[in-house]
Amino acid sequence: MTAEPIQKLVIVGGGTAGWMSASLLVKLMGADLDITLVESDEIGTVGVGEATIPPIQTFNNVLGLDENAFLRQTQGTFKLGIQFENWGAPGDKYMHAFGPIGRELGFSAFHHFWLRRAKQGASDSLWDYSLNYQAAKADKFARLDHLPGSSLPGLTHAFHFDAGLYARYLRAGSEQMGVRRVEGRITQTQLNSETGFIEAVILEDGTRLEGDLFLDCSGFRSLLMGEALQVGYEDWTHWLPCDRAIAVPAENGPRLRPYTQSIAHQAGWQWRIPLQNRAGNGHVYCSDHISEDEATAVLMNNLEGMPLAEPRTLRFTTGRRAKFWHKNCIAVGLSSGFMEPLESTSIHLIQTAVVRLAQMFPTKAFDAVNEGEYNRQLGFEYERIRDFIILHYHTNQRTDSPFWTTCREMAIPESLQHKMDLFTATGRIFRENNELFTEDGWLQVMIGQGLRPASYHPLADQVPMDTLTDFMANLRGLHQRALTDLPSHTAFIAAHCAAG
Ligand code: FAD
Repeated sequence: MTAEPIQKLVIVGGGTAGWMSASLLVKLMGADLDITLVESDEIGTVGVGEATIPPIQTFNNVLGLDENAFLRQTQGTFKLGIQFENWGAPGDKYMHAFGPIGRELGFSAFHHFWLRRAKQGASDSLWDYSLNYQAAKADKFARLDHLPGSSLPGLTHAFHFDAGLYARYLRAGSEQMGVRRVEGRITQTQLNSETGFIEAVILEDGTRLEGDLFLDCSGFRSLLMGEALQVGYEDWTHWLPCDRAIAVPAENGPRLRPYTQSIAHQAGWQWRIPLQNRAGNGHVYCSDHISEDEATAVLMNNLEGMPLAEPRTLRFTTGRRAKFWHKNCIAVGLSSGFMEPLESTSIHLIQTAVVRLAQMFPTKAFDAVNEGEYNRQLGFEYERIRDFIILHYHTNQRTDSPFWTTCREMAIPESLQHKMDLFTATGRIFRENNELFTEDGWLQVMIGQGLRPASYHPLADQVPMDTLTDFMANLRGLHQRALTDLPSHTAFIAAHCAAG
């Protein structure tokens, strides 16, 4: 193995993972890299995946996509957060709203001041200080970097979109920039008999595609990493027991909400995702606790509009590949692992995988230390997302079904236990290294699920109570004034990015 540059990249699979990878790598390295993507129309893609989180804006910006054009092409809408319904106890509602809660206040985060007032009987909610939440509940949206006349942050958004249309849109751009697309079914993967590296993939019609580096974007089947290279799978079902999803598109309800809904049911939860032309709906559930027929009935009885297709069941095992990068192969997308879409993280994990690959792009020497660093960083990110999802299940107060009791009583990872213990004792939350979710994200879910800290930061006591009360009222007032001038989400889309 020499330190010569990689010349030939073969991407196996043309779902969201395949085309996101192709589009970023051709944009960054297209001049030096010969990229071929092989996909099979006959096999198709997973065909779900509609809700995202704010970092996707950076990805689209790097590609140079115009946001309005992208939303038109993908039937997209704006997303300000995720509303969780019935997750604490039946009837409860809270939001994981993107963007900050309150404002920057030096060493002790804003919520310590809120906690101090709450301990003294103030009844204002944490979400009174989230502009994203206030706009979401009023069905309002505009691109707003700052509050008018102030340096305070405005709205932070992500998108709902049709992931299949997104892949198609990225494909057009990637092909224009020189990515070669090959249609066909791969039937064989050839490994070097000495090194075990992948040499080529062979298609049904005998075509042989050689490469220096291979991306496995083949979906749940994990054709290269799982099947050919026999890299194992770490199963996380003991922490996240849901293993099925039923998905069905339906007509939109009466409002085009700028947020995702996640509604807990007896043995799982349901998503509602508003696109311009339809709503994405699905029921994620645990097959040990409810049958497929019952789960389908729960979903169909909770649609807001008429179904537009037959419901479809998908099976999954929550967990991750033991290694994401092995030899000359990197698994991206569903072939690298799966966590249910509760916090809309799968498309984001494609983004971070391919951005990291660009940062750590190998030579033909394939340094083991480079591979190890990639696996370490991505593994950490996976585990912290896993913990965040477990938090929603574990901290429930539902007594209506054995499923929720099991989730409440199960052992949880030590990393999550530590985070919860620190918060309940001191009110403190720390975001470590390249952890995805912000302190304010963790805060909203912990408070929303009913956790209450025993104390708060002593610095919060240093401000006289009257001053603090005025400060909080001023902040609420600034938010309310900003909201008054915002158009409705529906009107904003009609004016700027309607798919037609
Ligand atoms: P796929 O879409 O399955 O693509 C696999 C590709 O490999 C296809 O092109 C296929 O043709 C090709 N292929 C496979 N075998 C062969 C072969 N032998 N020869 C040639 N080609 C082959 N993510 C989010 O971020 N937000 C969400 O709200 C969300 N919701 C989800 C809900 C559910 C129920 C599920 C299951 C997933 C959800 N996801 C979500 C995840 C998201 O759908 C995927 O991460 C994303 O679409 C990437 O899929 P993929 O490209 O890895 O795989």
